[in-house]
Amino acid sequence: MKTLTDEQRNFLMESIRDVPDFPKTGILFKDITTLLNNADAFTLLIEHLRARYESSGLDYIAGIESRGFIFGAALAAKLGIGFVPIRKKGKLPSATIGEKYALEYGFDEVEIHIDAFEKTKEARVLLIDDLIATGGTAAAAAKLIKDAGAQCIEACFIINLAFLGGTDKLAGLTPCYCVLEVG
Ligand code: AMP
Repeated sequence: MKTLTDEQRNFLMESIRDVPDFPKTGILFKDITTLLNNADAFTLLIEHLRARYESSGLDYIAGIESRGFIFGAALAAKLGIGFVPIRKKGKLPSATIGEKYALEYGFDEVEIHIDAFEKTKEARVLLIDDLIATGGTAAAAAKLIKDAGAQCIEACFIINLAFLGGTDKLAGLTPCYCVLEVG
């Protein structure tokens, strides 16, 4: 199903657990482990994304560490295409390129293998993560895909914390699709 009904969206939303004050006071953490261990919810989500992207001519899915790996790898296997991890600095073993992004205090950095898309000229890539908050991580990841010689066709998030305006940071970098909206 390319489009979810309100009932299906509600079902997915209710399968995600809210954990107050994690990892620090004032943060309402959206815990997707309860979606993953609900077979009906996980299957509905992956089938929805397969239907949405099966005719998009994608060559790869790039997932952001770490929960983006779970959704991205499951979807890549369904679509019969490759999966590329985007990881925190220092985790990938071969030659990488990196992109820094601002946090509330200081900076963080994500990296990709420089040869991740080498086998496909101007590879068509879907970027995926579980959640977009301020958008800093996803914007850095979208830039990395471009720097590695590929095109980011769309960035997909299971949850958008819309009140933080993170999708605005992706304007001009990539179109964006969010399965569930919060706020
Ligand atoms: P940001 O760069 O601010 O958009 O943060 C996005 C990343 O932080 C994603 O990889 C999310 O998994 C994680 N994240 C941020 N806020 C939350 C939250 N309230 N609940 C769960 N994960 C979060």
